Amino acid sequence: MTAQASGERRIRILDTTLRDGEQSPGVSLSHSEKLELAAQLARLGVDVIEAGFPISSPGDFAAVKAIAEASRGWDQDPVICGLARAIGADIDAAWRAVQPARQPRIHTFISTSPVQMDYQLRKSRDEVLMQAVRAVQQARGYCTDVEFSAMDASRSELSFLKEIYCAVVEAGASTLNVPDTVGYALPEEFGSLVAEILAALPDGCGASVSVHTHDDLGLATANALAAVSAGASQVECTVNGIGERAGNASLEELVMAIQTRRDTLGAVTAVNTGEIYRTSRMVSALTGVVVPPNKAVVGANAFSHESGIHQDGVLKMPSTYEIMDPAAIGRPKSRLVLGKLSGSHAFRSRLGELGIRLPDEQFQLAFKQFKELADRKGEINDEDLEAITGSTLVNVPESYALEYFQISTGNRSVPTATVRLRFCGGDSQEEAATGDGPVHAMYHAVDRLTGLPVVLHDYALNAATSGKDALGEVTVKLDYKGHIYSGRGVSTDVLEASLRAYVHALNKIVANGGRAMPDGRAVTGADAR
Ligand code: MN
Repeated sequence: MTAQASGERRIRILDTTLRDGEQSPGVSLSHSEKLELAAQLARLGVDVIEAGFPISSPGDFAAVKAIAEASRGWDQDPVICGLARAIGADIDAAWRAVQPARQPRIHTFISTSPVQMDYQLRKSRDEVLMQAVRAVQQARGYCTDVEFSAMDASRSELSFLKEIYCAVVEAGASTLNVPDTVGYALPEEFGSLVAEILAALPDGCGASVSVHTHDDLGLATANALAAVSAGASQVECTVNGIGERAGNASLEELVMAIQTRRDTLGAVTAVNTGEIYRTSRMVSALTGVVVPPNKAVVGANAFSHESGIHQDGVLKMPSTYEIMDPAAIGRPKSRLVLGKLSGSHAFRSRLGELGIRLPDEQFQLAFKQFKELADRKGEINDEDLEAITGSTLVNVPESYALEYFQISTGNRSVPTATVRLRFCGGDSQEEAATGDGPVHAMYHAVDRLTGLPVVLHDYALNAATSGKDALGEVTVKLDYKGHIYSGRGVSTDVLEASLRAYVHALNKIVANGGRAMPDGRAVTGADAR
């Protein structure tokens, strides 16, 4: 039954993982990672992809433009949106970036709360109102799809909000976004605010109301749902709820709440929920932001039942204690599938069943890792396959490849590591180093080999799969000249996973033009040419 036929409202999902999500502390995605993620967001079925803030940097501009161009070849047809302050140059840049898309959108914003107008903008209400109207008019000169945000709306005066939203509708804005920029609102008052704004708009103006909520008080999803009940028809969110400070409303929470409580909310989205889990894993792998085990919908424990009474119930009838079917969000059922005798055909066909698509080069790399893992572990389950393919999602040229490592460590000895890397040109070199611990010693040896001036910013070790032969998954973040690069490594040996994660991040740095220090011993492939 379609939404119209049943009288249900269709809620549009604006995903801002690539814009607000990328503003998460310590998150920085490369150009190719942004393109990979945008394509996956399209497969997930979001209505709008907010691809970036084009004026903010040449890299962001290039990424938004590349996503807009790539979107023409996708099966799905999401709107590609670029963010812009209510400033001429911002709107020009946003338009130049999103223009190639079949459905481009310019999203412009200005502060409307007394504290931000007085202390940050240093502008009067009249000036802010005029600037907003001019910005929307300029954007409308470029395209028909224009979104306007009154930044910090939840701390703005209602009378001023009504005035500015009516003025920008008159100027041609088609979506009016009500952001709870600082995560201050409570659900009931936020719902009332949306209802008041909707009531103030001219009859038949055709503009839709959107909300953008933050999780500073843990209320991002609740606030967005209160707004939906009050009549909002677009919600802005990010995968895994990443974003500025405590993050944004989680896409997976909003979509599954709307689907699970369709009876009460009377609304539907166009999201293909079967892609949720895969997208969550991808965002976690690319950003290095680990999903907490107790995270709603996508956390490792979201469908684990510990109490004996609950286990008994779920075995008899899942709906006794499960309000959602894990299969509905594409969570793979863990079962043994492949072994060390499995060939590339079986491997490819199982990946296909899991919905994992890899270009040929990445497939070969993943297959090699699969064979190595199968040799050590014997039986390979779906979680293992996800962990392996997660680290090869984005093709990073191997400027450095790990050949071998050896570690000597103990509580009464100085940890010492020997690492041998093969360089892009074909040369192999080896270094030994000591450190405070075995991981530190390995990283120190690698630093001597590459000469890249990096600082370890973050290190996280997780069990990617279950059981005593579980795969260890290590995520590192390296600071190279003020930019953060994440790397991911998977192995049954946590030290090897640590080393692979480090080398993975270094390969990304080189792929983005990173170079060894002049006094660094080794030269990278790029420098050697
Ligand atoms: Mn935000």
